[in-house]
Amino acid sequence: MVLSILAATACAGRRVPPLAGPSSAPVMETPARVALITAPRSDAEWNALGDEAAALLSQYLRINTTNPPGNEIVAARWLASLLRREGIEARIFEPAPGKANLYARLAGDGSARPLILLNHMDVVLASPEYWTVDPFSGVIKDGFVWGRGALDMKGEGIAQLMTMLILKRAHVPLKRDVIFLATADEEIGAGVGAAWFVEHHGDLIRDAEFLLNEGGTTRANGRGGVDYYGVGTTEKSPFWLDMTARGTAGHGSRPTPDNPVHRLVRALNRIADWAGRTPLVVTPAVERYFRDLSTIERDTAQRRWFADIRAALRDSVAVRSITGDIAYNALLRNTISITGLKGSDKTNVIPPVATAVLDVRLLPGQEPAAFLAELVRVVGDTGVAFRPQGPSWPATESSTDTELFRAVVAAAHARHPDALVTTPMLAGFTDSHYFRRMGVASYGIAPFPLTQSDSRGVHGNDERVSVEALRFGVRFYYDVVARVAAK
Ligand SMILES: [Zn+2]
Repeated sequence: MVLSILAATACAGRRVPPLAGPSSAPVMETPARVALITAPRSDAEWNALGDEAAALLSQYLRINTTNPPGNEIVAARWLASLLRREGIEARIFEPAPGKANLYARLAGDGSARPLILLNHMDVVLASPEYWTVDPFSGVIKDGFVWGRGALDMKGEGIAQLMTMLILKRAHVPLKRDVIFLATADEEIGAGVGAAWFVEHHGDLIRDAEFLLNEGGTTRANGRGGVDYYGVGTTEKSPFWLDMTARGTAGHGSRPTPDNPVHRLVRALNRIADWAGRTPLVVTPAVERYFRDLSTIERDTAQRRWFADIRAALRDSVAVRSITGDIAYNALLRNTISITGLKGSDKTNVIPPVATAVLDVRLLPGQEPAAFLAELVRVVGDTGVAFRPQGPSWPATESSTDTELFRAVVAAAHARHPDALVTTPMLAGFTDSHYFRRMGVASYGIAPFPLTQSDSRGVHGNDERVSVEALRFGVRFYYDVVARVAAK
């Protein structure tokens, strides 16, 4: 199967078919379907399904959904055509020209509440000059499917799609509905994607009990095994701020005492200094995560510190070492990154205002208003004002005491009995918070085992996923879903 896909794609690589015809319906030829009579059992069947997933992902990556503008409607139509030809009804919602959210549902007997498989169709910008392949070629070479979105998150979207197709093809009896929800505008953190869907069509998912989304980590050890499965149960909350300093404008040759650029720089200096000293806070999820890590940590000092992170944070040597790791640091405090600055456009003009933007991320349990008050106190200048860029929300968390969480653990241990299954808090954020706030237990899982270096393609260059990881991921995803949805 791999060989035939490689051959087919090599041809396609030379003569890429147009993505969309005049009707803007995708005209890509659909890859061969793996027929099923019962749920797949043999390795050969699973490998064939994994290879079908690779061929589908290759096509999906050729649909350029760089956001902005996203143009997710083309992706939605392509996904809908795949679902419909299997007899799965799919609805496309178009909140704005070129934008789309797709909703499909497999019916269960209603004895349990639905499970949502959530994925976003948009991707971030790719700079082709830094890639070794065309980021929108979807080329399959050296055993990898290459392209922007392979990991974030068209690959996982395809694993979810294959789960739907396998359930349907094999006529698997379901106790709960399984909903496939592909959305727009995740990467720009606003817009007409998941937030729009929840607001305008919340009735279609209101009864859901569970959701699976991006936001997990499956860490391969590079020797064919998996060290740990990280399941996303909580994430920090973004609190992005615009900052404005006002003062007296003038000519650069006659300095004004309250030059707003000077004022802004002084304020930013205080913020930059404070950013490294914001209070250390241990949330219950983070405490549990460090305790889990201590069981696999090889360094003896770290192992002792992680086992009791609260005690470790009273020891200055431990604090320096632990917060010296940027990933751990972000789990233990509210963080501030100054990311944008603007003063005058002209060298000889003192502007009336100078502005900066701050990327602030808050831990669960932290109030945005309280944080803002503290920031104002640190700056201590009434000529400097802060304004939140958009709505903020308190960070949310899903319980691990659920049937779905236990299913993820069981599916992980069925493959890697010794792997640690743990719950790292995400320092970034996904669309899960919209659903957690509706009471849907939402987990980030990663279907593809990746080493640290494999993950660099996310929002970076040469994003790719191996065909072997796809084979693993399709089977793993299906297993998790079947454990909670099949009768
Ligand atoms: Zn993503």
